[in-house]
Amino acid sequence: MRISRITVWALTLPLNKPYSLSGGRLRVNSLDSTFVRLETDEGLTGWGEGCPWGHTYLPAHGPGIRAGVETLAPFLIGLDPTAPEAVLRAMDVALPGHHYVKSPIDMACWDIAGQAAGMPLWKVFGAALPAQISLNSSIPTGTLDEMIASVEAARAKGYRTHSIKIGGDEPAADIARIDGLNAARNSDEYLTFDVNRAWMPATAIEVLNTVTARDWVEQPCETLAQCAHVAMRVRNPIMLDECMADVNTHYEAWRLGACEGVKVKPNRLGGLTRARQVRDFGVSVGWRMHIEDVGGSALADTAALHLAASTPDANRLASWISHDHLSVDPVPGQGGRNENGLVRLPDVSGLGVSPIVETLGEPVAVYGG
Ligand code: MG
Repeated sequence: MRISRITVWALTLPLNKPYSLSGGRLRVNSLDSTFVRLETDEGLTGWGEGCPWGHTYLPAHGPGIRAGVETLAPFLIGLDPTAPEAVLRAMDVALPGHHYVKSPIDMACWDIAGQAAGMPLWKVFGAALPAQISLNSSIPTGTLDEMIASVEAARAKGYRTHSIKIGGDEPAADIARIDGLNAARNSDEYLTFDVNRAWMPATAIEVLNTVTARDWVEQPCETLAQCAHVAMRVRNPIMLDECMADVNTHYEAWRLGACEGVKVKPNRLGGLTRARQVRDFGVSVGWRMHIEDVGGSALADTAALHLAASTPDANRLASWISHDHLSVDPVPGQGGRNENGLVRLPDVSGLGVSPIVETLGEPVAVYGG
């Protein structure tokens, strides 16, 4: 089977309300998403989506995905999409680095590989049955009262795990947020306090040795070395996210004892292929993992949920779904959806999300015959 044509769409995905993280220094109003369709000479079609969370959250740029696909396209036409790892190696030769550009292509290859095998991706990735996945909310930074109200709204949708965005210049404000939200939680709820790299190491150590909460704390500082320094001096378990660029970074984090868990995000890592490598490394060293994408519609969310659904229960924490924050839905009714805080993926082959092209508007590029 050969890739015969690549079609690219650019979609603006407005958020249903502005989103603030990292103490308010990072704000997002809409997402720049790229949808990619791979067609093959045997009639199978695969879909992928690449969608950074704005352009301040990670070194990833929405229009950069389209530019990168333009560069990669001549090297992709004619390759066998049922061999995603070989396709990824070809992309690495044609364009070293730029991992986030490769994620939608890699995703679409896995979609085709699953369809060709007649298996859903959770099964391709090793599961006998898809795990029922708990979903977690994402609570933007605000005043304590605003954040408690956001948790209550998420609770009403069934969420029992909450990723709470904190961080800022004033340690006392974060101490009050953490202890206030900890006191306001229900007994069946889990909290993660996500600092999104806002703290200096000294601030992280001061805050975390003052609060009473012993919940997960995520990406306290900018770099892996800073986070490792903090991890050795606090009692909270540490989750790492933005500083985890590739498989080697994960090995280094393990070697340093910098964390007890990681976020596994296909768009940050360069697609499902590399996300699966990281997931398998995390299983082997005993990490706990949130497996989800960086952003996007239910297409990108569902791709990551397939990986989550094939991950052992002991290693899997809840997954976040970006599409819950959008005011548009380019794939209505498709893919993994929140059912009172849980999601179970359907038993359909491949990725299981196939946009109706007429609803996506005009493509921005078509490569191949
Ligand atoms: Mg995070």
